[in-house]
Amino acid sequence: MSKVLGRLRCPYCSEVVEVNDKVFMIFGNWIIHQKCYFKHSLDYEVVDKGTLNDIILRYWFFQ
Ligand SMILES: [Zn+2]
Repeated sequence: MSKVLGRLRCPYCSEVVEVNDKVFMIFGNWIIHQKCYFKHSLDYEVVDKGTLNDIILRYWFFQ
């Protein structure tokens, strides 16, 4: 079980990112909801995308 589950908050809506939420990982390894990214018309460099679960499985630093 990842240490970030239930504790990682989206910096735009301040809500806890759930394991099945669709997210973007942007430069600096920030995790942002895809819906918030589009809602705020953000223009960050997207490093990876998927559900939070996908991201956790791909990157050791979230495990
Ligand atoms: Zn959000």
